[in-house]
Amino acid sequence: MTVYTLPELPYDYAALEPHISGKIMELHHDKHHKTYVDGANTALEALEAARESADFGSITKLEKDLAFHLGGHTNHTVFWNNLSPDGGGEPDGELSAALSEFFGDFEKFKSHFSQTATTIQGSGWSVLAWDSVGERLNVFQLFDQQGNVPVGTHPILMLDMWEHAFYLDYLNVKADYVKAFWQIVNWQDAAARLADARTKTAGLI
Ligand code: MN
Repeated sequence: MTVYTLPELPYDYAALEPHISGKIMELHHDKHHKTYVDGANTALEALEAARESADFGSITKLEKDLAFHLGGHTNHTVFWNNLSPDGGGEPDGELSAALSEFFGDFEKFKSHFSQTATTIQGSGWSVLAWDSVGERLNVFQLFDQQGNVPVGTHPILMLDMWEHAFYLDYLNVKADYVKAFWQIVNWQDAAARLADARTKTAGLI
């Protein structure tokens, strides 16, 4: 049973240079992301076996494994598409209006998101998400691959702050990695995610 599969990158490994090296992109996609995909499938298989045998002795481990690995798969799938060799600049249209509505203006959002990224304790992500209950944008620190983000939120923009995402290029200087991110962020992808989240979630929760 293979439920989850590793998606192709939407660009070449080296396409984001000099901001993110081809070496990091190759390792990050082919090794790290693939491990999450495999881990999610393995957890699903083990849960199916548990149901068949009515042996739920490992249920807490398996549920944690599923959340961690599926989180990793989902996060990286969003992240690859949040980046583009033609990215950078500032958003326009509905996304720009929404950032101003919920964060004051674009620069305030950018500062908030950057600080959220560089101050994560341990491994995690900076996340801009649509909250389907309050029908608003919020910024979260996501711990590891799955912690600290409420259900009912839809990812719009995600920045991987695990050391594997930047250490080969930036060593410990997280702020420079975040500055580079703003040069390759794909606002068109973020805008499409926001439009989709608003359509799917309106009034559902
Ligand atoms: Mn990663």
